Amino acid sequence: MTEVSLGKTGITVNKNGFGALPIQRIPQDDAVKLVRRAFERGINFFDTARSYTDSEAKLGVALKGIREQVFIATKTPSVTAAGFWNDLETSLRLLQTDYIDIYQFHNPAFCPKPGDGSGLYEAMQQAREQGKIRFIGITNHRLAVAGEAIESDLYATLQFPFSYLTTEKELELVRACAAHGMGFIAMKALAGGLINNSAAAYAYLAQFDHVLPIWGVQRENELDEFLNYIDCPPLLTAELQTVINKDRQELIGSFCRGCGYCMPCPVGIEINSCARMSLMIRRAPQAAQLTDKAQAMMKKIEDCLHCGKCEAKCPYGLDTPRLLEENYQDYREILAGKMI
Ligand code: SF4
Ligand code: SF4
Repeated sequence: MTEVSLGKTGITVNKNGFGALPIQRIPQDDAVKLVRRAFERGINFFDTARSYTDSEAKLGVALKGIREQVFIATKTPSVTAAGFWNDLETSLRLLQTDYIDIYQFHNPAFCPKPGDGSGLYEAMQQAREQGKIRFIGITNHRLAVAGEAIESDLYATLQFPFSYLTTEKELELVRACAAHGMGFIAMKALAGGLINNSAAAYAYLAQFDHVLPIWGVQRENELDEFLNYIDCPPLLTAELQTVINKDRQELIGSFCRGCGYCMPCPVGIEINSCARMSLMIRRAPQAAQLTDKAQAMMKKIEDCLHCGKCEAKCPYGLDTPRLLEENYQDYREILAGKMI
């Protein structure tokens, strides 16, 4: 079984981490069953967030009685010290534990530091002194904030999107984390659903000894795919490399990752689904993208005010309104019979 050590933390875990965002979408009994199945097959790192509605509560129930055998990471999106404490106490209560292994700032727009006036980093230090958290981490989607966090040497771990679609700039972050003795937790290793070959995704990330992917799963068959990789890790064969090269050619660059940081939209456009419809319809089962509900969702793009709010918030610098228009145009053509 392959393991990953997270920088200088001393935390060594199974190379497959469990991303607990999707368990929000399933009933509690199913979520508990899924988490226990993951644990019983060797997964011992679970990542959740205060913002993932009832994910922490479900994890708390699932990990009851085995807390000492697992590592839990969660996150606060708070931008005030008071909010930080409120979030931390809530997370501890819902997770049914008295400590969090890695407590992360959740995608802050800036890198919290001591003395920056926000009081956030000081709150982290205090929580650590009180034994409520073991290590301080940060998650981000912005290269600049992530780079600053690494250079500051204030953080034990960085969580950042990383898959075989990422660019040289993201690879630099991965290398810099290693150089600074910082753990790298890879989110979106399937690029938000655009990568549909999990073996290729797994084999690519397996090349990086210090990178811990957290797989967001909500179905037993999805989990089993990764569990099987624990026993038989896929190798980066010429065949898988061809898949990667083809996907890179098709996808790399200005594609919507589906992260949702540009939302909410004042007129209710589901930007994180609509701005990547052209890709999803070609890479995922097509019927699900053509339902009445999906068509109504896409039609909403006609209401766009071109206010630019989404574009200003997109951490990938995408021209979101233009992307929406292009996706809608393509979608209408597909509905009218265009072959894809
Ligand atoms: S530009 Fe359009 S899609 Fe973006 S936030 Fe404004 S109304 Fe919504
Ligand atoms: S447009 Fe940008 S912020 Fe919005 S979902 Fe896509 S990648 Fe995320």
